[in-house]
Amino acid sequence: MKTISIVVPCYNEEETINIYYDAMTKMKEEANNDGRRFDIEYWFIDDGSADKTLPILQQLQKDHSEDVHYASFSRNFGKESALYAGLNQVTGDYVAVMDVDLQDPPDMLPKMFDILEEGEYDCVGSARMDRKGENPIISFFSNSFYGVINKMSQTKIIPGARDFRLMTRQMVESIKSMTEYNRFSKGIFSWVGFKTKYLPYKNHERVAGTTSWNFWKLLKYALTGIIDFTERPLALATWFGSIFSVLSIVSFVWIIVRKLVNPMIAIDGWTSIVAIVLLIGGIQLISIGILGEYIGKIFLEVKKRPIYIIKEKK
Ligand code: UDP
Ligand code: MG
Repeated sequence: MKTISIVVPCYNEEETINIYYDAMTKMKEEANNDGRRFDIEYWFIDDGSADKTLPILQQLQKDHSEDVHYASFSRNFGKESALYAGLNQVTGDYVAVMDVDLQDPPDMLPKMFDILEEGEYDCVGSARMDRKGENPIISFFSNSFYGVINKMSQTKIIPGARDFRLMTRQMVESIKSMTEYNRFSKGIFSWVGFKTKYLPYKNHERVAGTTSWNFWKLLKYALTGIIDFTERPLALATWFGSIFSVLSIVSFVWIIVRKLVNPMIAIDGWTSIVAIVLLIGGIQLISIGILGEYIGKIFLEVKKRPIYIIKEKK
């Protein structure tokens, strides 16, 4: 009998945990009635929640000590850290990562399990087919993000791919070997390679509680992804620098020739000079800013701080 370990990050999820566990139990019973046989090992990671998430997890673990485990962080480290912490605990043959708000439908798991059992694939993921019901501004930025990162980076990310997936133990070991501090799971899942099949996924609303993401957090997360998986933006300054150097040489030649041909001519164009100075100054600042983003990430990496701190574990 195979065991599926499930990593479930929880941040202020007091309303959803029990609903999630009941839905999963129902799914497991139905799947086993259909003749599939798997056990489930849960690893709930309490990501420094401020509500009753931890006491609820403690109670759940007491009631179901045969399959429920939890680890609780000393503070909020973010979903990426929670996923990594979970992957470091699991013992099952297959490993799934899942949100606790039931936006990742439990009944996809048996299908994923069947596909892995056939042996051809190492990972079964889920990807959104449409962005219906989403804020159009968020959709626009999401689509631009996938466009940019897939153009710039060697690491390709399927648009709309969710973190929700079932992986073999071998793939999980490779992910664990990526110990970087700035973690961007969508990129990491793709970077390690292995054969992945994507099942279509229709958007589901949260069963309860509220999302902890807002526009700025998403934008920051997208930038982390780009900085983590491509060095291309660093070359931007070189490109702009080259183009402007060529342009300035051309205009120098133009000014000198004009003065030689007609010595009485006054060099005009105060406005254009100011515009050019501002343009180039702006581009220089942007370039330094890009450089700064990378240096900031390097700074965090070299400090080698732990990715998470577990306060309590069962
Ligand atoms: N989450 C977490 N730490 C955080 C933010 C979120 O562990 O700092 C968890 C959260 O409890 C949920 C999952 O990550 O299980 C996805 O979060 P959410 O539903 O808020 O994001 P969305 O589905 O809206 O992208
Ligand atoms: Mg969610």
